[in-house]
Parts: sequence; structure tokens; C-alpha cells
Amino acid sequence: MEKNFVEKMKEQLEKEKKVLEKELQGFAEKNKQAKSDWDTHFPNFHGSSLEEEADEVEEYVNLLPVERALEARLSEINLALERVQQGKYGLCEKCGQAIAAPRLETIPEARTCDKCPN
Ligand SMILES: [Zn+2]
Repeated sequence: MEKNFVEKMKEQLEKEKKVLEKELQGFAEKNKQAKSDWDTHFPNFHGSSLEEEADEVEEYVNLLPVERALEARLSEINLALERVQQGKYGLCEKCGQAIAAPRLETIPEARTCDKCPN
């Protein structure tokens, strides 16, 4: 992997990491015990009616899959940043070949090349 390219991807990964963390912070709290685990705020029922409380629960239920998806992406990005540090960024986990640059530009956290199944 070309050093300039890896640097560029590292910047992109760090930018995405910040965006994801910001999104998560909007409705979830970082779990202090587990690294890269987030917990969606459970409604604290300050609604004045049962209907409002039901809305809060519904919102919570709707946010859970969002939280999981953001969390999964964030942990992939953290792993990719670790690979940058180890000098292994951009190498396919399965076959060890360099992953094509356009693929990394689309999915900077990609672990495998487009010839290997995920
Ligand atoms: Zn491969």
C-alpha cells in the first residue's frame, strides 16, 4: 500500500469515526465498561400522558437497531485504524493481497478484497 494512500484513508476513517460518535452521542451513552459499546438512553418517562410515554418507548425501540448498526460500523472503523497502525491496512484478511483502491475508497474499513467472500 502506498503511504500517501494509507494516510488519506486514515484521515477518512477518522472523519467517519467522529461523525458516527457524534450521531451515537445524540441518543446513546458510551458504555464505560465495554470499549466501543454504546447504550441507547432508555426513556425516563417525563411525558405527561400514557400516549407520550408510549411514544418514548417506541422511539427507544426504533433507535436500538440504529444504535447497533452505528456501533458495528464504528467498531469496524476502529479495527481499520488499528490495521493502519500495524502497517496492515488495505491487505485482504483472507488472501493477503492488497485490496483495490477504489474498493477502499468506497468502503474504507473493508477487510477483504472483492475476490474473497466476506
Ligand atoms: Zn482476498
